[in-house]
Amino acid sequence: MPPRPGTVYLVGAGPGEPGLMTVRALDLIAGADAILHDRLIPADALAGARPGADVRYVGKQPGGRSMPQEEINALLVELGRAGASVVRLKGGDPFVFGRGGEEAEALRAAGIEFEVVPGVTAGFAAPAYAGIPVTHRDRASAVALVTGHEDPGKEDEALDWDALARFPGTLVFYMGVSRLVQIAARLIESGRRADEPAAIVERGTLPGQRTVTTTLSDLAEHATEAGVRAPAVTVVGPVAAMRDELAWLERRPLFGRTVAVTRARAQASGLAARLRELGAEVVEAPAIRIEPRAVAGAVRRACERIADYDLVCLTSPNGAGLLLDALAATGHDARALSGALVAAIGPATARELAARGIRADVVPERAVAEELVAALETVEMAGRRALVARAAEARDVLPDDLQERGAEVDVVALYDTVTEALSEHQLGAIARSDYVTFTSSSTVRSLLDALGGPERFPRGARIISIGPVTSGTLREHGLEVHAEAVLHDVDGLLAAVVEDAAPR
Ligand code: SAH
Repeated sequence: MPPRPGTVYLVGAGPGEPGLMTVRALDLIAGADAILHDRLIPADALAGARPGADVRYVGKQPGGRSMPQEEINALLVELGRAGASVVRLKGGDPFVFGRGGEEAEALRAAGIEFEVVPGVTAGFAAPAYAGIPVTHRDRASAVALVTGHEDPGKEDEALDWDALARFPGTLVFYMGVSRLVQIAARLIESGRRADEPAAIVERGTLPGQRTVTTTLSDLAEHATEAGVRAPAVTVVGPVAAMRDELAWLERRPLFGRTVAVTRARAQASGLAARLRELGAEVVEAPAIRIEPRAVAGAVRRACERIADYDLVCLTSPNGAGLLLDALAATGHDARALSGALVAAIGPATARELAARGIRADVVPERAVAEELVAALETVEMAGRRALVARAAEARDVLPDDLQERGAEVDVVALYDTVTEALSEHQLGAIARSDYVTFTSSSTVRSLLDALGGPERFPRGARIISIGPVTSGTLREHGLEVHAEAVLHDVDGLLAAVVEDAAPR
């Protein structure tokens, strides 16, 4: 259901991990006229917003000043009254320490329609990601969500510490990282056991999540030692000790490792998602960008005479996709390749072809030109017409071989790989990475350009290469290749990182 005009949606964005946003939240973000959001929302939460949507940040400013709540309320009323569909996007759940209740009151008072979209609250999600069940049949039959607000005074008085100390279950404190001394002291004073297990989960579900497990009496000291900072939730109760047994995130093979991905943005997301699944923190630093060439000149000529080719070779997934696009642009479809032998350089390219309805006839297991040459060895070439569709900048191993064997070869450049500028932030993140992955020679050259030369390459980072050609380019620049993928695709690359990261 698209958002209704004149309606304000109080939407929870979850604890930080993008996958924990609700379907309803994503739908509303995609359709809203206006979006007012806080700071603690997942990265890319707004990626699906309509172009032209009125997106405003209403959280804390760098100086620490926030837009006063009354102003936010007034803005919601004003936008709703003007007939806009408005998403008010908040971290976690909008009704859990999110002042969503106050916003709903203001909307009701002004007669504006609203809907509440619950979110996964940090007080449940962060412990869950730390391996702490907030309730448990034998250890906690109740859970309380408690504010540990940093502002002493009013909020402080609002808490009944005796009741909290007696509370028969788990206490989860939001906020208040700087007030852990007082929180622990007041609970113990009021009768909670000093040796009760406690845990602080920092940046729950986010890259760099950290957990400190301790006891109530040592809570503040251990948090200070570890340098825990907001956002964090504090769990007090026997369940906190279950983490010893149930921690799961930390068991992932790349947990705690930072891995830089240098391939073009369009191809990076699959690799990045897989790395995250393996527990890594990913630095997306696309050193190159794929720029498709216009369907003109040699590209157009090749497409127009596509039926004349006996052999069509695709040497990258990009090339495969773009050839099909170019064929479509010239009035063809997959059937145009029905008479030709179709060769893909490797499994990833074959998969791209398959996605477009074409099963490659020849697919070497490892994606290198030499292997494709070998795989085509038994195919008669004399007098045959061959098309090699590829990047502008590519090695000539394949076309040279086909030509030597008597084929008439057209080499068509479907795209250029251009260097992408990297921000200071991205360069800094690369410098702190444990791993830098390279998926092609052009990513090597472009990243080294961006860094200002091989001597600026971060010393501590281990280099993982997708295959021998990329490794050769790295070594030419004086860099050590720490691991090379056995299979020259994303799976192979991931396997190489995991193997390198495994404890020996
Ligand atoms: N409405 C939000 C809470 C807002 S109050 C919710 O339902 O989650 C902000 C507090 O939430 C932070 O001070 C911190 O205690 C907690 N918090 C938010 N995101 C968090 C995260 N990713 N990990 C740990 N705590 C988080």
